[in-house]
Amino acid sequence: KQHMAKGLPKQKPITGVKRVIVVASGKGGVGKSTTAVNLALGLMANDPSKSVGLLDADVYGPSIPKLMNLKGNPELSDNNLMIPLINYGIPCMSMGFLVEDVAPIVWRGLMVMSAIDKLLRQVDWGLLDYLVVDMPPGTGDVQLSITQNIPIAGAVIVSTPQDIALLDARRGAEMFKKVNVPVLGLVQNMSVFQCPNCNHQTHIFGSDGARQLADTLGVQLLGDIPLHLNIREMSDRGKPVVVSSPDSPEAEAYRKVASAV
Ligand code: ADP
Repeated sequence: KQHMAKGLPKQKPITGVKRVIVVASGKGGVGKSTTAVNLALGLMANDPSKSVGLLDADVYGPSIPKLMNLKGNPELSDNNLMIPLINYGIPCMSMGFLVEDVAPIVWRGLMVMSAIDKLLRQVDWGLLDYLVVDMPPGTGDVQLSITQNIPIAGAVIVSTPQDIALLDARRGAEMFKKVNVPVLGLVQNMSVFQCPNCNHQTHIFGSDGARQLADTLGVQLLGDIPLHLNIREMSDRGKPVVVSSPDSPEAEAYRKVASAV
């Protein structure tokens, strides 16, 4: 395992992109894509002079089209690169724009790799200060291949405070360390639910597991996102909270993550 990092193929930057931040998780369903979207919007909200793009590398279950309320096929530029679709000021690229409701779950490894290559190399981003990449969940070949192909400024790992999610989040953090990608920190998602009727707070998945894991790994806890109906509803409507309810505490929580990366 030691030589894994040594034998890396040469990394090639994505043209025009200054800083790539990957958003990863050990497990699916912990809020990785929701975090990626609101992080991208949060980076822009914190400093509107920055240009931010969003790449959906979750080829098995692309959710950026829905979360960013975008659909359609990208047009090609003069040099035959795909032009990202834009909403809320964020250029986005996703497998979801290229295939129609297929179940890429049946794809063989090679097809997945060539899809990833297309998404990494055949997009005309223009100039970006940040490219936020929504990674596929887990720590397999696809994740490794992304980390080996492009220089990554850092990884943000999303986890719920539940033991089983934390265990996988830890694996994720260790994978990044092994391939020399700095782990910027952990985002704890869905730790607290506040009842909208009586304001009682419930820690449905536990209260501070991610904080403890961050301590163990010696990385920062970048933020704590509450389990909130508004986040789920707005996400489903393609109106992420950072743009649809900028004054809410949940939007503030995402902007805080953005200012910490
Ligand atoms: P992943 O990318 O890890 O699979 P998603 O971001 O798609 O997870 O989130 C899974 C589901 O949970 C979505 O329906 C999303 O709207 C919802 N969700 C994510 N984070 C929160 C949160 N903090 N509060 C409420 N719902 C959330």
